[in-house]
Amino acid sequence: MKTQPYHSVRTSKIHGRGVFARRPIRKGIRIIEYTGPIINEKEANKIGVSTENGHSHTMLFQIDKKRCINGNEGGDARYLNHGCDPNCETEQDGDKIFIKSIRAIKKGEELVYDYHLQVPGKITDKVRKEYACFCGSSKCRGTQIDAEILAKQAKKDDKKKKKDLAKKLAELKKAEKKKLADLKKTEKEKAAADKAGKKKKKDKKKDRIKKKDDSLTLMVDKKKPAGKDKKKDEKKKNKKRKK
Ligand SMILES: [Zn+2]
Repeated sequence: MKTQPYHSVRTSKIHGRGVFARRPIRKGIRIIEYTGPIINEKEANKIGVSTENGHSHTMLFQIDKKRCINGNEGGDARYLNHGCDPNCETEQDGDKIFIKSIRAIKKGEELVYDYHLQVPGKITDKVRKEYACFCGSSKCRGTQIDAEILAKQAKKDDKKKKKDLAKKLAELKKAEKKKLADLKKTEKEKAAADKAGKKKKKDKKKDRIKKKDDSLTLMVDKKKPAGKDKKKDEKKKNKKRKK
């Protein structure tokens, strides 16, 4: 008796065609092999990434640094969609890749695995969108790009944000310091000007007082002619002699 296959291919809610469980699958089962010719880096680069409805997708499965399986010319496994909360994972056995269940799967459930998509360069919002994920899971990270890469990028972004913030803060502090210094300077200048003004006033007052004193002295001099006092003194002396 031939065993019934575990999967079937039909339209998926996630993206294009998907692979579904044809019957209940226990945990730890090799459901399907990812087949296709093994090609080198150069050939893989020629195939590259195709675009469909603004979304990039690749059907190349890397088996080591220099080789990958060309799923475009392979079997049904190429239709497995990416999922952020997957029920399957890939298992490498030499040059062979298998899709394996990581938990019990009900009949009719779509089979998904985490693509851990490696994207070179900076992960911009554009790149994220290009590899957007529509798995619909509550754990969906919104993109098929590998979570570790995203975390690294987030760390980098955070570092840059902090650096930019620190720079802005330093600039603000510098500006504030300059403002304060300018304020102190104008205050000092004002104080100096005030002091100079007061001194001028004081000098003027002193001058006025001096002038007043001079005129008083003049008046006193006019009131006390020296001759009169001398005559009085002589009269007093004469009276003493008569006694
Ligand atoms: Zn997702």
